[in-house]
Amino acid sequence: MAEVINGKEIARSYRMKLKEQAERLKEQGILPKLTVILVGEDPASQSYVRGKEKAAKEIGIESELILMPNETSEEELLRTINRLNADASVHGILVQLPLPGQIDEKKVIFAISPAKDVDGFHPESIGKMMIGEKTFLPCTPNGIMHLIKEMGVSISGSHVVIVGRSQIVGKPVGMMFLNESATVTYCHSKTSDLAFFTRQADILVVAVGVPNLITADMVKEGVVVIDVGVNRVDGKLIGDVDFEGVKDVASMITPVPGGVGPMTITMLLHNTIEAAQ
Ligand code: NDP
Repeated sequence: MAEVINGKEIARSYRMKLKEQAERLKEQGILPKLTVILVGEDPASQSYVRGKEKAAKEIGIESELILMPNETSEEELLRTINRLNADASVHGILVQLPLPGQIDEKKVIFAISPAKDVDGFHPESIGKMMIGEKTFLPCTPNGIMHLIKEMGVSISGSHVVIVGRSQIVGKPVGMMFLNESATVTYCHSKTSDLAFFTRQADILVVAVGVPNLITADMVKEGVVVIDVGVNRVDGKLIGDVDFEGVKDVASMITPVPGGVGPMTITMLLHNTIEAAQ
């Protein structure tokens, strides 16, 4: 029976440390500030943004929300980003994705100053991560690494299988495991015989968005399972892993909710404090 990784508790204790760092910055006359831009009225995005604002305030980061209408032009959004890039009181800039169709997301990500890129999505941040230079790391992957280390799981020499290769989760988290000397296998929608690969994993990270994609017969005894997926099914949040079945085979497993989610926001706060420092 697997140990359930308590992401909420690990996040809470990490945020206490960040709160102390925010207090020390304030003593030096620096008020850490995160500005979040939300374009449009997507309910899921609104809820994510509210969660980020609340968490920032709780640890003493000033948080500003800029709401822009759904029909905002790309030029207007880029102007707003440029203004924030030049504003010394703003340490972190986050543009909530997805953006409405008339706006090119890549252009927007490229426009954010790398010094304020607290999401870690700018190509400069990604490039630095690739070569192992200090930079803002993307929040969900960094949260996963923190969970794994906090649980005392050894990474070097282990076989890490990642299911999902998105720019924000799968691809960067694999790179971070590689930087820590794991052997990494990436799986995606074109992988034939997914179970062949997942059964070899010492650490299995699943970031797909398909409820219960990974079942007990697809993992080996003792695997550490990190379930990133968030799926709403019959009004309930569930992950990409069949938690009830897999927990009898795994040695550790993250629940959904309460696993990776709280760590993602925590790493955003971490990056904002770093930016202010
Ligand atoms: P994307 O949709 O960007 O990527 C999904 C990936 O899964 C793609 O690489 C896709 O392959 C792959 N995939 C799709 N179907 C299959 C399949 N049947 N078998 C194997 N691979 C498959 O998703 P994200 O990475 O943005 O998010 C993944 C999940 O994680 C979502 O549920 C999202 O809500 C959640 N999430 C949770 C966060 C948290 O903090 N807890 C943060 C971010 C995301 P291909 O590339 O070939 O299309």
